[in-house]
Amino acid sequence: MILATCHCGRVSLEVQSEPTEVTECNCSICRRYGVLWAYYSPRQVHVRTEGAAQDTYQWGEQTIAFHRCAHCGCVSHWASLDPARDRMGVNARLMPLELLSKVRVRHLDRAGIQVAPR
Ligand SMILES: [Zn+2]
Repeated sequence: MILATCHCGRVSLEVQSEPTEVTECNCSICRRYGVLWAYYSPRQVHVRTEGAAQDTYQWGEQTIAFHRCAHCGCVSHWASLDPARDRMGVNARLMPLELLSKVRVRHLDRAGIQVAPR
């Protein structure tokens, strides 16, 4: 079991397995958040919050909502607004550092900008 927590600890996500790969995306929102996404089925992720600890952000015709801790501001995950979609993104930056140091990073070029591989 892997635990991802925001800085203040009010939001935490439990996943069953560590990611084999995380995705760094350069689209308009991901590059601003500076997140690394690990993709899971929502059935594999348990989100815990203390009280009303989350804010969400969505815009335009987007079909996903970005969740962040209302206290410390860390982006924790994105979730689909379509309950039938079997995919969500967990911000792997909230996972333990020793895990992040060894995981492969995939660069997703959604801005039309070439990103050099690391
Ligand atoms: Zn927090």
